[in-house]
Amino acid sequence: MDVRGDAGSTQEIPGILHLDMDAFFASIEVRDDPGLQGLPVVVGGAGARGVVAAASYPARTRGIRSAMPMASARRLAPDLVVVPPRIDHYRRISDHVMGVLGDVVADIEQISVDEAFLDVRGARRLFGTPEQIADLLRRRIREELGLPSSVGGSVSRAVAKIASARAKPDGMLIVPAAGTAEFLAPLPVSVVSGIGPKAQEALARIGVRTIGQLREIPRSTLTRALGPRAPEVLALADGSDRTGLGHRARDKSLGTERTWDEDLTDPTAVRRSITQMADDVARQLRRGGFVTRTVVLKLRASDGTTITRSSTLDHPTSSGERLREQVVALWERERSAMRRVRLAGVRASNLEPAAGTPVQSELNARSAGWQDLEAAMDRALDRFGSRSLERGSTLPAAADAPQRRGSELPSSPAGEATGQPTGGGPRTRDHDGR
Ligand SMILES: [Mg+2]
Repeated sequence: MDVRGDAGSTQEIPGILHLDMDAFFASIEVRDDPGLQGLPVVVGGAGARGVVAAASYPARTRGIRSAMPMASARRLAPDLVVVPPRIDHYRRISDHVMGVLGDVVADIEQISVDEAFLDVRGARRLFGTPEQIADLLRRRIREELGLPSSVGGSVSRAVAKIASARAKPDGMLIVPAAGTAEFLAPLPVSVVSGIGPKAQEALARIGVRTIGQLREIPRSTLTRALGPRAPEVLALADGSDRTGLGHRARDKSLGTERTWDEDLTDPTAVRRSITQMADDVARQLRRGGFVTRTVVLKLRASDGTTITRSSTLDHPTSSGERLREQVVALWERERSAMRRVRLAGVRASNLEPAAGTPVQSELNARSAGWQDLEAAMDRALDRFGSRSLERGSTLPAAADAPQRRGSELPSSPAGEATGQPTGGGPRTRDHDGR
């Protein structure tokens, strides 16, 4: 007899799932070249200033982590296998993963290229309990793509995310509503997203290292340590948090920028590059179901001077040609003052939804997730330098040609552009680390 579906009890179903692919880029590379199985494999820039974009589990057991400089990773594992990123390839696989999720669950919030929150309460009649749904999703991803994923489940998104991290690799952990506080109690406060190193230190000073200990201290003390986030963290700690999916505010701008190791002195090269960026931005607009009214050109000279110039269009557009015209005109005005260009960027702001795109919200979610990946790469670039990550598609070898392996990978030619989209809005420097 099926007793599910009663509105009262639905409240306490751990129906918020967080699905996260395990070591996504590295797992793809290992899948595509089984010879890499069991080896410390990282995806990232192989050059002197490269960083790790993803690390396989054998690499992680050696202490290697995402965003680590490649030189440090090599010190930890002299036998490290460095594979250059194949962004387009990962993007296609990401689309497939999200397609599997969309087949089963209507309410999805994609938060990066390889993870999403799902509210499965509406899928229960068709597909069963959260455990059964999580199992189905992981099985389908494994069967269709040959890739491992992990799922956490809870009554709240924050706890679901913590649970998926505990379930890794290739696991599932659904925390029942009544067991939430108990599940969290022994975990270090650092698992709570938003309790960063500074807050951890402040808490450690008052003897608080675990989430359980958080609940024991007076509220006023907690507020001093955590500031305005204290009530939210406390709700999480005592298991009363019920935050579900909230589709993120739509990006108000999106864009791309590139940094060159050697300054560009040829105005034609700059023009060619910003032309490509305009096309890229137009593609992002179309994929996201947006049009823009304002095109922004950003230029940084070799001395660090940065200028931004914008141009407002009469009619909102997602046409690459229209964007190209605008940025090239802006460049023509600035080129005499910008003889050595270190960085150039093109951004579309004041975005509006394009009319008549029924699948718009789904596409938005997907492109937003993709921008997160690019933003993550961007943060690595900010930290470690412009050559640290390179798009697979800008490498000399064709993206789908057999990849050269091993630690002697050449870096790409000097002056090769590095894809560095800015994503929307102000950039953050939060490090998620997973
Ligand atoms: Mg992941």
